[in-house]
Amino acid sequence: MIQVANLVKRFGDTTVLDGIDLAIDQGEIIVVIGPSGTGKSTLLRCLNFLERPDAGQLTIGDLDVDVTRASRADILAARRRTAFVFQNYALFANKTALENIAEGLIVVNRWPQAKAHARAREILSRIGLADKADAYPASLSGGQQQRVGIGRAMAAQAEVILFDEPTSSLDPEWVEEVLALMKQLAAERQTMLVVTHEMGFARDVADRVVFMEGGRIVEQGPPSQLFNAPRDPRTRDFLRKVL
Ligand code: ATP
Ligand code: MG
Repeated sequence: MIQVANLVKRFGDTTVLDGIDLAIDQGEIIVVIGPSGTGKSTLLRCLNFLERPDAGQLTIGDLDVDVTRASRADILAARRRTAFVFQNYALFANKTALENIAEGLIVVNRWPQAKAHARAREILSRIGLADKADAYPASLSGGQQQRVGIGRAMAAQAEVILFDEPTSSLDPEWVEEVLALMKQLAAERQTMLVVTHEMGFARDVADRVVFMEGGRIVEQGPPSQLFNAPRDPRTRDFLRKVL
C-alpha cells in the first residue's frame, strides 16, 4: 500500500506539485496522464527522492515519513521500496544485460555476486532475453534495452514499479514488445504507477487512470469512466487532443 498526502514540490517560485493526494493498493495498476509540464515525472521522482519534495507525507509499505524530515535512512528505504523504469532506459553501457539486472541486487541489497547473477538469469528468461545475458546495451534493440530496464526493476522486488514514459523513446516497431512485458507484469498484479501517452494501454490495463494538470490531480477513475465520461472540462479537452 502506497499513500501520498499533500505532496508539494517547488522549483524556485514555481509550484510544480500543488498538494497531490494519491493512494495505491497493492496489486493496483495506475496510469497517469496529462499535458506536458504538468508534474507527472516530478511526482514519480518525488516518490523515490530523485527530487526532494517540499512538503507531504509518504507511506510506502511499512515506511511512513514526513518528507521534510526524511533522513538518509528513510530515503534509502523509499528507494528500496520503489523501482524506476526510465524513458531512456538508463542502462550501464559497460555492463552486460545480466550485469545490468544484477547490479542493484549486489550494490543495494548486498547480495553475493553468484546469487545476484542467478536471479538475473531467471529474470532474463521471464523477459524473453535468456540468450542475451552477455550482450551489451549497444548491441540490443531499443525494445530489448527497455526490457532489460524493466527486468532490472523486476529484480528489485520493490513495492511498486514507477514507469516514466517507458515507450516514448522507442522506434514504433519496438513499442508493442515493451507494452506486452508491462501487461505480463500487470497480469501478475505487480503494483505499477505508469506515466504514458499510450491510451490503449491505459484503457486495457489500468485499474485507475489519473488525469493531472498544473501540478494537481484533476480527476481519476476507472478507464471506462475517465475515457468515456470524463467529468471535468480540462479532462475532456485533453482527451479530445490525444484520443
Ligand atoms: P512531460 O509530459 O513533458 O514529461 P511532465 O508532466 O512530466 O511533462 P515535469 O517534468 O514533472 O512535467 O515538469 C513539471 C514542471 O517542472 C515543468 O514546468 C518543468 O519545466 C519543471 N521542472 C522539472 N524539473 C525541473 C528542475 N530540475 N528544475 C526546474 N524546473 C523543473
Ligand atoms: Mg515527464
